[in-house]
Amino acid sequence: MLARPARRLAGLLFGGSCFLCRGAAEELLCARCDAELPRLGARCCPRCALESPSGEVCGRCLARPPAFDATAAALAYRFPADVLVQALKFHSELSLAALFGRLLEERVARSERVDHIVPVPLFARRLKERGFNQAMEIARPLARASGARLAPELCERIRDTPAQLGLPLEERRRNVAGAFRCPALVAGASIALVDDVMTTGSTLDEVAATLKRAGAARVVNWVVARTPPPD
Ligand SMILES: [Zn+2]
Ligand SMILES: [Zn+2]
Repeated sequence: MLARPARRLAGLLFGGSCFLCRGAAEELLCARCDAELPRLGARCCPRCALESPSGEVCGRCLARPPAFDATAAALAYRFPADVLVQALKFHSELSLAALFGRLLEERVARSERVDHIVPVPLFARRLKERGFNQAMEIARPLARASGARLAPELCERIRDTPAQLGLPLEERRRNVAGAFRCPALVAGASIALVDDVMTTGSTLDEVAATLKRAGAARVVNWVVARTPPPD
């Protein structure tokens, strides 16, 4: 397999190959793979983006309203969205960030305008290990396209948290409690939080609560992929 820059060059010269099926492609994905992505439709809870047959706010959100006001998710977190998300995060396939940015843009074009776009931050040590924050890479093209200000400085992760994977909801909540800080006043602002995957939503809930304590009027989640409900 060619290294990424070489592959990109080859793509420019000879027409590229699809990231998923290796067939001919002018973009990162061929038209067929792109069309087959598990895009989420309108039958989602506007607040948490879980399936809601009527498209109304779901029972979970009614019973325990999260700190965020809305969620726009581009894809369901299943094949091949999971492969793409993991390739960005764990194999540094940074060109996927542009694809995710475009998919989210399609999705939030029907949504609302915000003042600031805030990528969910990584803890400093993890950022150093990985060399980039995938949420930041996804937020960059979104900020360019939407005209909102990219504002990573509005949220800091002040505590490392163990991996959330496989933990039950209550433990996830405890895990991230007090893990973030907003070092500025954001009185009256509307903010979009950007992340790659939303699982239980406890991290986004904690960040939204932090931003609201700093005065944010409205916080919405823009996530590339949403996992199905836990049960
Ligand atoms: Zn393909
Ligand atoms: Zn909901």
